[in-house]
Amino acid sequence: MKSPQYTREIPQRYRLEAEKCRQCGKVHFPPRLICDACQSQEFEQVILSRAGRILTWTVIHVPPTNFDLEAPYIIAIVELEEGVRLTCQVVDCDPEELAVDAPVEMVFRRIQEDSQADIIQYGYKAVLSRP
Ligand SMILES: [Zn+2]
Repeated sequence: MKSPQYTREIPQRYRLEAEKCRQCGKVHFPPRLICDACQSQEFEQVILSRAGRILTWTVIHVPPTNFDLEAPYIIAIVELEEGVRLTCQVVDCDPEELAVDAPVEMVFRRIQEDSQADIIQYGYKAVLSRP
């Protein structure tokens, strides 16, 4: 049985689909019904770029149940080029390598497995952009 919420979020989780306000141009992710900048209700769909930078991060040592196997892991707030901020895991690096403003790229990875609902969830994680 698929979770209705998970299915509903697939466009954002799988394709980084966002909505851009037709009136003021602000990009919303996840999409919303009303623009919080100008109250417009007209949006166009956009696909976010995968490039961003780290604003801040923390290391999780005591994770929620479904993430037991992965601790410790890094959770960061990443700002994409469109100005959208999202919270995501940073993988394939040590915390010592992170820095404020460090450039990252969003990559598609397995997020977690929900054996009760028979779902393997996929989505985006961040990796450091290395020259
Ligand atoms: Zn707007």
